[in-house]
Amino acid sequence: MSKLSIRDLELKDKCVFMRVDFNVPLAPGGQEITSDKRIRASLPSIKYALDHGAGLILASHLGRPKGKPNAEMSLKPCAVKLAELLGRPVTMAPDCIGAAVVAMKPKSGEVLLLENLRFHAEEEKNDPEFSRQLASLCDVYVNDAFGSAHRAHASTVGMIAFVKQAAAGLLMDKELEYLGKATTNPDRPCVSILGGAKVSDKIEVIQNLAKVVDQLLIGGAMAYTFLRARGEATGKSLVEEDKLELAKQLMDQLGPKLMLPVDHVVSAEFKADAPHETVTTIPDGMMALDIGPKTIEAFSAVVAKAKTIIWNGPMGVFEMKPFDTGTVALAKAVAGSGAISIVGGGDSEKAIKSAGVADKISHVSTGGGASLEFLGGTVLPGVAALTNK
Ligand code: AMP
Repeated sequence: MSKLSIRDLELKDKCVFMRVDFNVPLAPGGQEITSDKRIRASLPSIKYALDHGAGLILASHLGRPKGKPNAEMSLKPCAVKLAELLGRPVTMAPDCIGAAVVAMKPKSGEVLLLENLRFHAEEEKNDPEFSRQLASLCDVYVNDAFGSAHRAHASTVGMIAFVKQAAAGLLMDKELEYLGKATTNPDRPCVSILGGAKVSDKIEVIQNLAKVVDQLLIGGAMAYTFLRARGEATGKSLVEEDKLELAKQLMDQLGPKLMLPVDHVVSAEFKADAPHETVTTIPDGMMALDIGPKTIEAFSAVVAKAKTIIWNGPMGVFEMKPFDTGTVALAKAVAGSGAISIVGGGDSEKAIKSAGVADKISHVSTGGGASLEFLGGTVLPGVAALTNK
């Protein structure tokens, strides 16, 4: 069901409560933002609301303060950074609810950033009274925090019961549009590339994508659980012994759609620049740390023909050279394919950056956990709660 967008709202002289994702990484001490990527990702919605005459209340969580104020997880540095990026003042509230905050209600064109929502335990408990107090600050609600949409908290779900209209922000809209189309009505062939450490983290994703994709390429450590389940030698590679039965079932379900590595870069040690060789059968005592050149070629050939690509997870231990080769090669293949490409997960994002191809990817999802749950077929509570069109 399609949801109301910020573009559908009358914003002039309205007080808008916008749930954003300012959960930025901070240097020790909590004063310095080490990446302002999430703040920048919210700018289109923030500017849109201000350009259309709204007074804007921004709210976010930051870190895990466990329901208590914690100066090292204050959103104050975000107010400073946002003011710099917007080129207009951003007022920092002392809290996210209460009389002092109510008195700071922003007028048209003004921006108020509330203090960390998680300084109150009621936020994560989705407490109705806390939700009501948040909602009482505003006329309309906008959620642009895709990265928090898989959590049913007061600021993502609870407070919506107390507002007249709840709409998706521009970033949320974009996420839903890309992920929604790719998982329901993709341009074909639709190919998914999954990698990373564990099968157990991505079971739902594999099962759900199996219904929609034409081809599923699995690399990274999770491939070795499948290869072992198929009776192949895996040496010292990471294998989830308790998931072998499940891997067999998934292989039956996927049939010829599934492609697994056919060669591997192996080493006796888990460390950068360790002596290594390429093999088709993994010897005893060796662990596979990357996909080999034949696999890169086979996966790249499938990717080259794709019209939609969904990628989550590295093909090997890409943090350690030279075991980043497979992941970087796939990043280049995805970028060069001309397909609609959707990349999720911090590791895949790092890989496309280190391959220098980030600008050739159609959509890099801002929500790791949320995008995995979406790909796994879960209806995200923060999306479900928004007003239907
Ligand atoms: P995930 O968080 O599930 O996407 O997993 C990412 C992690 O999987 C990265 O830290 C990789 O180093 C690790 N990984 C990928 N391939 C392998 C492999 N063949 N052996 C061990 N770890 C791997």
